[in-house]
Amino acid sequence: MTTKNKIIDLRSDTVTRPSDAMRKAMAYAEVGDDVYGEDPTINRLEGLAADLLGTEAAIFTPSGTQSNLVALLSHCGRGDEYIVGQNAHSYKYEGGGAAVLGGIQPQPLEFEPDGTLDLDKVRSVIKPDDNHFAKTKLLCLENTHGGIALPMDYLSEAESFSRTHKLCFHLDGARIFNAAVKNNVSVSDISSRFDSISFCLSKGLGAPTGSLMCSTSGLVKQARRWRKVLGGGMRQAGIIAAAGIYALENNIERLAEDHDNAGALAAGLSGIDELTVIYEQAQTNMVYLECNEETSRELGKYLTEKGILIRPAPTIRLVVHLDVNRNDIEKVVESFKSFFKKQVL
Ligand SMILES: *Cc1c(COP(=O)(O)O)cnc(C)c1O
Repeated sequence: MTTKNKIIDLRSDTVTRPSDAMRKAMAYAEVGDDVYGEDPTINRLEGLAADLLGTEAAIFTPSGTQSNLVALLSHCGRGDEYIVGQNAHSYKYEGGGAAVLGGIQPQPLEFEPDGTLDLDKVRSVIKPDDNHFAKTKLLCLENTHGGIALPMDYLSEAESFSRTHKLCFHLDGARIFNAAVKNNVSVSDISSRFDSISFCLSKGLGAPTGSLMCSTSGLVKQARRWRKVLGGGMRQAGIIAAAGIYALENNIERLAEDHDNAGALAAGLSGIDELTVIYEQAQTNMVYLECNEETSRELGKYLTEKGILIRPAPTIRLVVHLDVNRNDIEKVVESFKSFFKKQVL
């Protein structure tokens, strides 16, 4: 695609397309039947993920939804409960899978503005051991949440809280690498706090699909059974795992560019009076804008004509990723400015 006709898609970081080099890695991937454990590329990806996150084992799944779900199903049984954020992906955006398929009751709590769950509030919803109640079994966090990297000291408090209250501790780390790059720590400094971690290859890392659930060998063994039950036992899926290996080997450090570009986007848009730009220090690759709903729809139409895609809403989320460069950011800022100038005239 020529630069002139390039579509700048800011709706999500899931929209990235595999690069030529990634496609080449996919084309030449060595494959086998993974349900027999015989796909060498999947085995390599699982080993690489476990090494990076510092866990005993890892399992490749087609999606982050399935990766969170196999973790929850492996930790919790029917009648158990997990504590989770009200807006957490694993609660709100995964079709209620834990409850629907696992008989696992969610106990949602509002997130704090920094993406954490207040541990005093968590303590207050832990149920006593009593026949009236579901058994509180697990605490689930999300990092990044709304693009915000959770504070590192909070993670260690939440870890000791979970140990004290004998809760399993799961991280929906769909964007854990953004959090690690933002905090300038290795990803294992984050993952080592948790009993299990799910992360996505298909977001800012730029792979077409796939997630990994990382944990102990015992839990991953159970997850392998649940993955089969859920229809996630794939065959020569090394062809997609190869994209994941390429992503982990090439696309982690460059996430810093996305964070810089998001900062530049926020700074560029902050001069527009009609918009409120929400962009915290801990923000990674997302910028949020508040704007009146009708304006937002008009803005969406105007930008589409200019080859810029956003999702109109009262709070607009703009997501920066590896298919958006600094020139694109400048074009986006200019286009926003010309839209609002037009509005005034
Ligand atoms: C994208 C995402 C997931 C997984 O989504 P899939 O589309 O199923 O891969 C899980 N959690 C969070 C926070 C996400 O953003």
